[in-house]
Amino acid sequence: MREKVIEMLASRGVQVGEIAEIVFSLQREYVPGLSIEDCEESVLAVLDKREAQHALLTGVALDVLAEKDQLPEPLLAIIKRDEPLYGVDEILALAITNVYGSVGLTSFGYLDKCKCGVIGRLNDHAGNRVNTFLDDLIAGVAAAAAARIAHQHGRSYPGVTDGMQAKG
Ligand code: MG
Repeated sequence: MREKVIEMLASRGVQVGEIAEIVFSLQREYVPGLSIEDCEESVLAVLDKREAQHALLTGVALDVLAEKDQLPEPLLAIIKRDEPLYGVDEILALAITNVYGSVGLTSFGYLDKCKCGVIGRLNDHAGNRVNTFLDDLIAGVAAAAAARIAHQHGRSYPGVTDGMQAKG
């Protein structure tokens, strides 16, 4: 199942390595010696989780159906416009982040704001592409993979790197 999900992500223009880069940027300050390979391994471990697979399959299916105008109104228009008050995409992504406990929440919120790396590219919705769900889902995967690394290193987890640090 994980390989299917990785294939689907690639078909939507997202490579595992790009998610690993985001994880690395979140964690390198707190984990001495962390490598991009460690981050990639963590992303793959997250993508092994049924919660992550199901959320990704569901959200990307909705994005693709919206692209093809195959959803009923008014849902179609809401998803195509990526309406700011439609929060189901974020809620679905939290199903991924929550797998590693609340420690990933700070990172998820941060990624939602910074639109770092591939998340920003997805959020631009180039051409006819609809990535309303995918950008949040990738943030969810990255936040979960970062939380997993934090747990492995058994340390408190600031989670963000730009002065917005949460305590504890
Ligand atoms: Mg979104």
